[in-house]
Amino acid sequence: MSNAVQHIVIVGGGTAGWLSACVLAARLPHKRITLVEAPDIPTIGVGEGTWPTMRETLATIGIPEAVFLTECDATFKQGSRFDGWRDGSAEDSYLHPFSAPPAAEMRDLAATWQASGQQGPFAAAITAQHAVCAASLAPRQRAMPDYAGALNYGYHLDAGKFAALLARHATERLGVTRIAAQVTGVTRATSGDMAALMLQDGAELAGDLFLDCSGQAAILIAGECGAAWVDRSDVSFNDRALAVQVPVEPGSPIAAQTIGTAHEAGWLWDIGLPTRRGIGCVYASRFLSDERAAAILKAYVAAKVPGADPASLTPRKLAFSTGHRDRFWIGNCLAVGLSAGFIEPLEASAIVLIELSLKALADNFPQSRTSMDIHAARFNELFRYRWDRVVEFLKLHYVPSGRMEPYWQAQRAPETIPARLAECLTLWREQAPSAWDFPRVDEMFPAASQQYVLHGMGVPVSLAGTSPAAPARLAEIAAKARALAAALPTTRDYLDRLAAQSPAARIPA
Ligand SMILES: Cc1cc2nc3c(=O)[nH]c(=O)nc-3n(C[C@H](O)[C@H](O)[C@H](O)COP(=O)(O)OP(=O)(O)OC[C@H]3O[C@@H](n4cnc5c(N)ncnc54)[C@H](O)[C@@H]3O)c2cc1C
Repeated sequence: MSNAVQHIVIVGGGTAGWLSACVLAARLPHKRITLVEAPDIPTIGVGEGTWPTMRETLATIGIPEAVFLTECDATFKQGSRFDGWRDGSAEDSYLHPFSAPPAAEMRDLAATWQASGQQGPFAAAITAQHAVCAASLAPRQRAMPDYAGALNYGYHLDAGKFAALLARHATERLGVTRIAAQVTGVTRATSGDMAALMLQDGAELAGDLFLDCSGQAAILIAGECGAAWVDRSDVSFNDRALAVQVPVEPGSPIAAQTIGTAHEAGWLWDIGLPTRRGIGCVYASRFLSDERAAAILKAYVAAKVPGADPASLTPRKLAFSTGHRDRFWIGNCLAVGLSAGFIEPLEASAIVLIELSLKALADNFPQSRTSMDIHAARFNELFRYRWDRVVEFLKLHYVPSGRMEPYWQAQRAPETIPARLAECLTLWREQAPSAWDFPRVDEMFPAASQQYVLHGMGVPVSLAGTSPAAPARLAEIAAKARALAAALPTTRDYLDRLAAQSPAARIPA
């Protein structure tokens, strides 16, 4: 093939760049892959919560689970817990777990739970994961095969160590070439395609397909290809974060889920790793000053982390714009990661979008330049759909809130609610969310996720009809919860034992 796509060039060495290098090298072993990263431009260095998709990603690229867990100080993530979102009271808390019953059963089980007087939280009634999370248990036993679980799970991890492990794996095991250099421009072919990157030292790096993983700089997709920015800050207000890492006492319990605690103008994340907790205050600068955000963060640390000294912490400030490109793939340039867009990390949707982009690319790889524009158009349509659904699902966490601070009142102002979400909320008063609302094969937030948030936020949903089999299924789920609670180790115990045995499992440096 005269115009075969052989050489993939990736710009950027953050999570997006190194994940791209590993996945494409593993999935497309006959392609040549080069990654160029500027040693003087730092990566963003945050991004500690992943989705269950990460298990398939890591298995695909060939990193054993024990190696990943120990090298990245990783733990298991089984969902997200939302505290204080409904009204801010002490008992205001719900879980959005990663496990759900089969989609076909969801409506019946929910209706039966409702008909029986809503005894206990919705998530506790329909998945054993609620009990497992409440007891800080691991979702698997050590003897299970890699990446298998009694329940669905992703990970919490140290972002810097993760990128370093991926880089080592890509260059030492998967044949990826790394170049340390800043990209300063591109040269174009007569067709208008990008032909080569110009590097700061004067060298040129030619390629057939260019992945822009340059983070918020978006040097190729925006700088060179002129993709427009679609601003979503009219819906999603948060644009700042203050982040700290707080050491924890040895042997302390490790939370099984991300904890997102609402505050007067945003929320705090709390992610437990074996040796520290990553805690951050996310807020909207138009409603909250940096000083007030720092005070909220320190008060949270003082209240929630035993033995911590909040006065000694120096928060790292991150500013971000909310939105995405109007097109992610233009000509022979594809944006992956922050260069494609960003929205607050409320459901950790960034790294999974990287994984989904790479899956779409590898499953539909353009073998020649001839087919590339067809792939690009399909990719753009799919990912525009995905971004719209992410924006709507995150907004769903705010709209039903009864909190009275100005920020929360503004969050439920009708003009800030996307039209499709408003339509769904009207429908869901009469019928539960279902696959009719989310019909695509790979929906990021299927009907089960919508139900967890709706019931968690106390939205009245009319759940007509229940099947005769449903009460027995709910009893089965309750029995499974008791059995798993008795059988699974705590996450702390699982990881401490793994660390004690671990050096042999590591990839040699
Ligand atoms: C506060 C916050 C919390 C987050 N939490 C989560 C979370 O829990 N879960 C989740 O999934 N995501 C989260 N994210 C998002 C996540 O951090 C990113 O999606 C992820 O780290 C990928 O970043 P990246 O690789 O696209 O960009 P970066 O990490 O910024 O990397 C950019 C790379 O491009 C290189 N580069 C830039 N310009 C040039 C140039 N001219 N020449 C050569 N190289 C260049 C840099 O050197 C760097 O290597 C969070 C983000 C923020 C802001």
